[in-house]
Amino acid sequence: MNILEKKKVPEFMAALAADYDLYGPIVHPDSKDVLFDRAADPGDIALQAPIPYNPAKIPFFPQRESILGYTYDRSTGDVRIAPADLVRPKALVGIRSCDLTGLLCLDRFFLGQEFVDDVFRDHRRKTFIVANTCVRPFPQCFCVCTDSGPSAREGFDINLTEAGDVYLVEAGSEKGEALVRKLELPAADEAQTALKDKIVDGSIALFDEVSRENKAWISRATNRLTTGFIRNEVWEYIGKQCFECGACAFTCPSCSCFNIEDLNGPDGTTDRCRTWDSCSFEGYTKMAGDHNPRRPVEDRRNKRFFCKLSYSQSRKYLRPGCVGCGRCVRVCPGDIGLPTVVTAIRREITE
Ligand code: SF4
Ligand code: SF4
Ligand code: SF4
Repeated sequence: MNILEKKKVPEFMAALAADYDLYGPIVHPDSKDVLFDRAADPGDIALQAPIPYNPAKIPFFPQRESILGYTYDRSTGDVRIAPADLVRPKALVGIRSCDLTGLLCLDRFFLGQEFVDDVFRDHRRKTFIVANTCVRPFPQCFCVCTDSGPSAREGFDINLTEAGDVYLVEAGSEKGEALVRKLELPAADEAQTALKDKIVDGSIALFDEVSRENKAWISRATNRLTTGFIRNEVWEYIGKQCFECGACAFTCPSCSCFNIEDLNGPDGTTDRCRTWDSCSFEGYTKMAGDHNPRRPVEDRRNKRFFCKLSYSQSRKYLRPGCVGCGRCVRVCPGDIGLPTVVTAIRREITE
């Protein structure tokens, strides 16, 4: 473990900015909202800011992106493909453990199955991750229930933990170690090294006091979802609450559904675009001939919660699909964020 004095954070950011486009939590100057975004200036990244409103998947899996361009010559039948240039190196700086765990879920979805997604792979290839331990949870957090925080255990190049005037620095990869050497960060002494565990334990202890969502019965809900012992009335109640707006999926760090469409230009060029999709949208399960096997919203809403918590999905991600960030709690106009659904399932178990 090494030490980064807070006054040397600009030097740390500048060293990263020399090799990467920087993304991180940025405080909007007027609204004061925190968004995970590209930093125009390395100094814009606010390591102390609360968890951003949007998920950290955006640099690798943006809401809309062109993944391919091609031209079709009708007279000759020739097709020319021009792959998009997607490989700018990116550093995600100040990513919270829940968001990083969500990114690892996306890695397994896009890269860890039979078909590898080339576009996502190219985004991920040149990446540097600086994780940031949460020294205290935020009100909507429940990562302690989903084993995804408050401090990252894997997937980072550098992990920072705030400790007074310094950050404790853990290198998680050769790239991270190289940066530590380049900046000549001093080694932590024994007391500083021991501080890391104390800080994380202190943060976990604060969940009862600070976070409103930590009582969720995640493991019991997982059991019920997996075995299918949930009455239709529960899903109907959840369906009636849902506005089908898609905000939960669009702010979720582990949601991976997308749609592909070809946009034809007047000159024979075509832009193939990938856009986020959501199982809350009525057209999500629509098939050719207008057949829709999941037209009622509750049939699509239960899909979301199976996806987040059932054991069969956990096998795909090697962990629950929900990482406890609580964003769906914050954005849902129908008050059916994941903990509310877990509470509804808990009521069914206990009634
Ligand atoms: S859910 Fe956990 S890791 Fe995520 S911001 Fe909250 S405390 Fe940090
Ligand atoms: S389901 Fe909700 S709480 Fe869980 S990871 Fe997604 S947005 Fe966060
Ligand atoms: S945010 Fe709430 S209302 Fe909107 S689609 Fe998700 S569950 Fe439905």
